[in-house]
Amino acid sequence: MDNFHFNNNFLIELAKKNGTPLYVYNGNLIVQRYKELFQFIPWSKLKIFYAMKANYNPAILKLLEKNNACVDAVSPGDVLLALKCGFSKERIIFTANKITDEEMHFVKSLGVLFNIDSLSRLEKYGKAYPNSDICIRFNSNVVAGEHERVRTGGESTKFGILINKSKEVTVIAKKYNLKIIGLHEHTGSGIPETVKVLEGMKNLLAIIDTETFPDLRFVDFGGGFKVPYHPQEKRIDYAKFGTEIVETFNTFCKRYGKELEMYFEPGKYIVAEAGYLIIEVNTLKENNHKLIAGTNSGFSQLLRPILYNAYHHIINLSNPQGSLKKYDICGNICESGDCFAVDREINEIREGDILAILNAGAYA
Ligand code: PLP
Repeated sequence: MDNFHFNNNFLIELAKKNGTPLYVYNGNLIVQRYKELFQFIPWSKLKIFYAMKANYNPAILKLLEKNNACVDAVSPGDVLLALKCGFSKERIIFTANKITDEEMHFVKSLGVLFNIDSLSRLEKYGKAYPNSDICIRFNSNVVAGEHERVRTGGESTKFGILINKSKEVTVIAKKYNLKIIGLHEHTGSGIPETVKVLEGMKNLLAIIDTETFPDLRFVDFGGGFKVPYHPQEKRIDYAKFGTEIVETFNTFCKRYGKELEMYFEPGKYIVAEAGYLIIEVNTLKENNHKLIAGTNSGFSQLLRPILYNAYHHIINLSNPQGSLKKYDICGNICESGDCFAVDREINEIREGDILAILNAGAYA
């Protein structure tokens, strides 16, 4: 076992001790993924806001807090939990997507910075809290992400203010003397094409000048860093991409006349690979040559396969040398879609075997 990967026996021991289904996280890998982003993106004013929606397990939040991370929160509950886990209000940004007035007042009372994503919310916020600092979420008009349900850019999505409406933003901000200290965009999750991320960044940067947005302290480019889910998938060269990011931002800062802070909000990248869902096989069936392995978990514990048809690699921890056979590996919920994998080749499964579903750390 190395620091970043758990071996079969260790996971089986944990399953025996704690029972299954069981989530296990590798804290060393979480910290490694968080820290390496600073090596990949060598911008001295870089801040990483962990997108806690990816996994708000308090142990993970506390670990990242100890390592000086900041946090991207998207609900009043997120903000409260982040505060409880030790993040100071200055280290939290609240991306207010479709909130009620009540939620707005409540989060404002906690003192965190708002990232506002609609003109109507901007108006309501300005009326209630004139003369305050805000960040604006624009929609950078790029459609990208590993599944259609996690593509947040482009005209047809519910996210952000279209970049061609920046004039309206500044008019409202002026009316209420709001100081726009940050601009934000987030293109999507698990973006395979780094050119698309750069395109989103460039689209946002193109609308910024000192006359329109004179008070900027930072630009926040959201999350979307992809990790491989399939063993054959290649890891993106983030060191190379980081250099391109810095070049793009540096050129912009020279034009803007000030070295701004650069924020990113990765969720998946930091936690996905560190999570294992350990489950037990309790039922084997052969339906006319189709092998079905029924387990004691289901989509209530891991939603990604049914929601996004997502691939999660699965290993048979307790029979790693078994001959390879194909199975549908299913959950215990009464819906036909409740399967972790269909026609999946895996070492022979017997009733009582313990399986590990890999990369289950994010959005699970
Ligand atoms: N920031 C915002 C505004 C998001 O909506 C999301 C995810 O949907 C993220 C960051 C994190 O994305 P990811 O986990 O793909 O890095």
